[in-house]
Amino acid sequence: MATTKPHAALLASPGMGHLIPVIELANRLFTHHNFDVTVFTISTGTSPATQSQHLTSNLFNVVTLPPIDISGSVDPNADISIQLLAMMRQSIPSLRSAINSMKSRPTALVVDFFSTASLAMADEFGMLKYVYMPNAALFAAMTLYAPAMNKNVESEFDSENELLTIPGCRPLRFDDLVDAVQDRTGQMFDDYARVGAEMSTADAVLVNTWQDLDAITIGALRNHKVLRETIKVPVYPVGPLTRQAQPSDSRSGVLDWLDMQSRGSVLYVSFGSGGTLSSQQMTEMAWGLELSRQRFVWVVRPPMENGALDYLNATNGCDGSLDFLPNGFLARTKDVGLVIPMWAQQAEILAHTSVGGFLSHCGWNSTLESIVNGVPLIAWPLFAEQSMNAAFLTEEVGVAYRPKVSPSKGVVMREEIEKMVRLIMEDNGMNSKRAKAKELEKSAVQALSKGGSSYNSLSQVAKNCQMKLNEHVICCD
Ligand code: UDP
Repeated sequence: MATTKPHAALLASPGMGHLIPVIELANRLFTHHNFDVTVFTISTGTSPATQSQHLTSNLFNVVTLPPIDISGSVDPNADISIQLLAMMRQSIPSLRSAINSMKSRPTALVVDFFSTASLAMADEFGMLKYVYMPNAALFAAMTLYAPAMNKNVESEFDSENELLTIPGCRPLRFDDLVDAVQDRTGQMFDDYARVGAEMSTADAVLVNTWQDLDAITIGALRNHKVLRETIKVPVYPVGPLTRQAQPSDSRSGVLDWLDMQSRGSVLYVSFGSGGTLSSQQMTEMAWGLELSRQRFVWVVRPPMENGALDYLNATNGCDGSLDFLPNGFLARTKDVGLVIPMWAQQAEILAHTSVGGFLSHCGWNSTLESIVNGVPLIAWPLFAEQSMNAAFLTEEVGVAYRPKVSPSKGVVMREEIEKMVRLIMEDNGMNSKRAKAKELEKSAVQALSKGGSSYNSLSQVAKNCQMKLNEHVICCD
């Protein structure tokens, strides 16, 4: 007798920011929607120790596919997105043989943004196929719409205001767009549009957001005539799927320090799994924090000029030295601040009641982790789609402040940092960013509760998988 429980095979691209949301989707499918789950990851050879902690689960199987060598086909200095797309394309044969050798054939293949090339393989095995976007709905909409965009960049913009409009969505400023869409003449846009076209072949696209947070774009993706005619594939909001704080036996010193601070008094400063600042910006940030006289926890990494990042290995190789911080900074701030080299327990920190603000690079996981804890943000975008997220948080949701000059374009000076830090930490009025964050914290819980919008979306996926499974049982038993 074949199994009667649907089985989802989830493929995660390398990088903590990609792995964490896939693991959270795996947990959710297992605990709330009665799935068996297998998570496939790619060994990068130098994966940070933090990765293996996340991959220890007794809820689902983890299969690590062999490392991929792209050195012969991709310039090592190419954009990280080009490297990841190539890596995931080359992983298809090993994914195919891993699925082929599984005793119970998965019912559905779920891939992320970088792995849409493997969707065609789901057809070979008679599996349903889904794309999981751990991003805001607007990034999903823009990617799906990309194949319909004009490659002649000029013509798509309202030239006076330099705005790009995806039908039915909030217009986007040129400066906030991802590099691939700013310049549509090169390989990056071709790759991006191909991902969008491949996404459209899926049975559905799952987005890690929820109705109340992302109402405008979700509304457009569901109902806007032009957008629907262009993208066709159904889009389901399934979030917010975020890492939960772990039990107290894995506590680090920072949580003990937070225990001693008063409620909502600490600003958390961090730039995701791979972000850091230039030397000059590091100095301005340190001074800005010090001048604000607010309490802070700051995750620091050695400075890198020109926004250079080693996204896949950023948590490796820390020698603990902090001599890139301004002279005397640590001594002068020792009673109000804590500096943590390289990596911190972010989920636990943001869930702590002493944390009242988050200066964040606006990676989508960090953004959600902040909002589900009712913590307002200072948006500090560095790369990828983070500027779009920053604009979304400040202009559409109203849960963040943002510096006048984007940190990805120039240096933000200490006076402005000091002012924004004070604003966010002292912001307590009825219509404040904090009030908005608290309101969204509640609506996030509702979306995921039984009968909530995101719960229902995953129930629909479960229903489709169950139907597929029943067809298979009828035809093959
Ligand atoms: N993270 C963490 N500790 C750190 C830095 C990051 O636990 O010191 C986690 C963070 O909680 C989030 C993920 O790494 O879940 C980063 O994902 P995000 O989408 O925010 O940014 P990315 O790393 O992709 O730029």
